[in-house]
Amino acid sequence: MEHRKVIIIGSGPAGLTAALYAARANLSPLVFEGSQPGGQLTITTEVENFPGFPEGITGPKLMDEMRKQAHRFGAESKYEHIDRVDFSERPFKVYVGDTGYTADSIIISTGASARLLGLDSEKEYMGFGVSACATCDGFFFKDLEVAVVGGGDTAIEEATFLTKFATKVTIIHRRDELRASKIMRERAEKNPKIEFKWNSVVTEVVGSEENGIKKLTHLQLKDTNTGAMEELRVDGLFIGIGHSPNTSLFSDLLDMDDNGYLITRGKSTYTNIDGVFACGDVQDHVYRQAVSAAGSGCMASIDAERWLAEQGIE
Ligand code: NDP
Repeated sequence: MEHRKVIIIGSGPAGLTAALYAARANLSPLVFEGSQPGGQLTITTEVENFPGFPEGITGPKLMDEMRKQAHRFGAESKYEHIDRVDFSERPFKVYVGDTGYTADSIIISTGASARLLGLDSEKEYMGFGVSACATCDGFFFKDLEVAVVGGGDTAIEEATFLTKFATKVTIIHRRDELRASKIMRERAEKNPKIEFKWNSVVTEVVGSEENGIKKLTHLQLKDTNTGAMEELRVDGLFIGIGHSPNTSLFSDLLDMDDNGYLITRGKSTYTNIDGVFACGDVQDHVYRQAVSAAGSGCMASIDAERWLAEQGIE
């Protein structure tokens, strides 16, 4: 089996920053980039809040630059998806199918994915009116009407952002009270373009097809109190019901909170297994920013480097 001092699982800002630091510490890290190389930022358009880019930079370009910078110092990427890990003894083992790799330390940066409603029709219209990312797709709904599902900060933030483009944004929430913070709530309530549809769930996404191109036309809603059905005419649907951490690989191995986020010790990136570190959205459901993920990737690499040195592995 191929052996490395550091193997990094995941290739968003956390993983690639960890790779950069580990490479510059001469640890020749191997990054498993997974099924979405570059992570969530590769499905965004403009990133305007990553320091150092006063004119903004696109998500894919930012991730390409991060990867190049890490590779320049000797990090290596494999565009493969780890489907099994064995942390029961050292060196640790990770597997892509039947191919195994060993590592003295592991940095986990598998991130989180947007949660979806789970409807077949939602899947069918994904990219054709349905989206899980207002910052990526809001622009396509200029002068159109859209709906956002959810009642948390994500939904309210997405809805508020969408009012820059859409003529009307309807927030569909399954209860009659928002979970979002007071400041976000007040901002949405004051926005004349935002309307609320309380006690409602989306039961079907409906559309039509013209010249082979699918187009969302309306939603079927169900009242959660009375069961009454209703149609809502919209051109777009944004799913803002939160994110799930990508941690199924580590169930029963690593400590997680009730929502499946990895738990790291104190202010460090140590998990409950010595030599296994976690950084980025997979262990942070609060900040979830590219720059905070990159910061924690740096921390994970420094933690790993110091831990390896303590084990006599330089
Ligand atoms: P939350 O878990 O806070 O909210 C998810 C929302 O979606 C809830 O209102 C929930 O309803 C609803 N929901 C969940 N599943 C379904 C479903 N299957 N069908 C319909 N509705 C559903 O997630 P968020 O992503 O909003 O926020 C996560 C964290 O990130 C929070 O700590 C938040 O404060 C933070 N955040 C902060 C931001 C900021 O400060 N700018 C921006 C975005 C997020 P119910 O309320 O009934 O459970």
